[in-house]
Amino acid sequence: MNLPKVLFVGAGPGDPELITLKGLKALRQADLVVYAGSLVNRALLAELKPQARAVDSAPLALEEIVSCMAAAVVEGKSVVRLHTGDPGIYGAIQEQIDALAALGIGTEVIPGVTAAFAAAAALGQELTLPEVSQTVIISRREGRTPVPEGERLERIAALGATLCLYLSVGMMDEVVAELLAGGVYRPSTPVAVVSKASWPDERRIEGTLGDIAERVKQAGISRQAVIIVGEVLNARHRGVGEKSKLYDRNFVHGFRG
Ligand code: SAH
Repeated sequence: MNLPKVLFVGAGPGDPELITLKGLKALRQADLVVYAGSLVNRALLAELKPQARAVDSAPLALEEIVSCMAAAVVEGKSVVRLHTGDPGIYGAIQEQIDALAALGIGTEVIPGVTAAFAAAAALGQELTLPEVSQTVIISRREGRTPVPEGERLERIAALGATLCLYLSVGMMDEVVAELLAGGVYRPSTPVAVVSKASWPDERRIEGTLGDIAERVKQAGISRQAVIIVGEVLNARHRGVGEKSKLYDRNFVHGFRG
């Protein structure tokens, strides 16, 4: 028997226009959509066929999510599992993929725009500037989900790269203390916090490691935000950073002789 695959689709960060064409096509064809109601923009559900069923996964346990999707697949229905941002970043998709595989059900992942990139776009900010930082780290502070020892914020901070922290804005004091403990970022290192990037109520708070915790508290932001840390953020204000070689007249590359 050839069962249809479950499609894991990245919904993007919020703005319904930030889903991929492929993801939208999958949504429009689906008979069942299991969506992460806590973060996915419900406006996307308007794209479903009238007879399609939409199930919010927020109150469900893994087993319930999997059995709901598996039951539909066995009936020959097309199933979309709609995750916020990109499914591969803090999406807990592996356990779903594995559980479906154990039932003989295949899966496919359609990527999405992750929150860090929506936050950078909201700021009009490049995350990789020549001579400033050529490395972007996506990480988080330990919460209820443990983080491996070698990836504690102090350790990651010691690189001094551009850092995008998810799931951490509710612990700003600890985040700041641990980042400073890395010994490379300083109290003057710029920080931007973007909450609800690409949503109508998006907010951008900018400051330094020295004052960002206070600013974020004053703004009342405690969830759904990305923290971006690093010298690249200074470029917009002070013109830090070399021009890239890519568009340099004297730099010969494959597309420009
Ligand atoms: N898979 C998602 C991340 C899910 S974890 C992605 O790729 O974006 C949830 C965390 O993502 C939140 O705590 C927050 O840090 C971040 N997040 C999700 N949507 C966001 C948005 N629109 N603006 C800012 N941060 C967001």
